[in-house]
Amino acid sequence: MVNTSVGAKIMSAASYPAVIMLGFAVYTTLAKLGLSVTVASYVGALVGAILITLLEINLPYRQDWIPDAREIGVDALYMITVQVALPFFVSISIVVALSDYLKGNGYAVQRIWPHDIPVAAQVCLMLLVADFPRYWLHRAFHKFKPMWRFHAVHHSPHHLYWLNVGRFHPIEKAIQYAVDALPFALMGLSKEVLGAYFVFYAINGFFQHSNCRVHLGPLNYIVSGPELHRWHHSELSKESDTNFGNNLIIWDLLFGTRILPRDRSVGPLGLVNRQYPTSFFAQMKSPFIKDLEGG
Ligand SMILES: [Zn+2]
Repeated sequence: MVNTSVGAKIMSAASYPAVIMLGFAVYTTLAKLGLSVTVASYVGALVGAILITLLEINLPYRQDWIPDAREIGVDALYMITVQVALPFFVSISIVVALSDYLKGNGYAVQRIWPHDIPVAAQVCLMLLVADFPRYWLHRAFHKFKPMWRFHAVHHSPHHLYWLNVGRFHPIEKAIQYAVDALPFALMGLSKEVLGAYFVFYAINGFFQHSNCRVHLGPLNYIVSGPELHRWHHSELSKESDTNFGNNLIIWDLLFGTRILPRDRSVGPLGLVNRQYPTSFFAQMKSPFIKDLEGG
């Protein structure tokens, strides 16, 4: 039964900004107390994940989107391997090697970035700039069949909950990293800026895929939140070929791909092929099997 009490309405409207702000507060407090910026940003994101889990339990958008234990296990494996381990090993190998190469050959790429403006302004600028190539990359992953085979892994679930934000094939994740993280690492952005960006990137990503009945109101014209992103996971390609934004919805607005129907709710989600593999190891091989993904 849908909870329509005043408290539920307030929670629907206030949860998104409140959880994001709390994540930032935890991050900045721990960093000020002397904890490593990387650890502080992970703790900030973790606090966000816990609060969103509580929201999913108390304020679900769809009762039939609640995941089972097997699904949670697969998504947890994706989160650990593809979202945590892969970027870590890329950053301690490729980023260090490329950075040394650029410095050794006199390419002062760090001069491109305005390091002297306030941290908050740098974080906003990074959100805007990083989302531009990521928006086009996401469109390309939908448009071109060989790329869609990899991206189909992310669209394979038939319902949404926060942990399946991490379900990406590692090859797609590596390409995403090259486009929306590597350039910023090479430009030498401070750890404080990267940490704050990560807190927003993580918590907004959790929200985006969450099964929470939240209403973002005017924020739906700035950030790419759950009300918009559900349509991106629709089984119908005319609906899933929209709302490509990762953190922001601004580039969709500019290029005419934003939709948010008010007269209906999203229908079935996922791939047309209901026999698409669901296990982690089978999905590693899926992009290499022709026509498995369907529409
Ligand atoms: Zn997509």
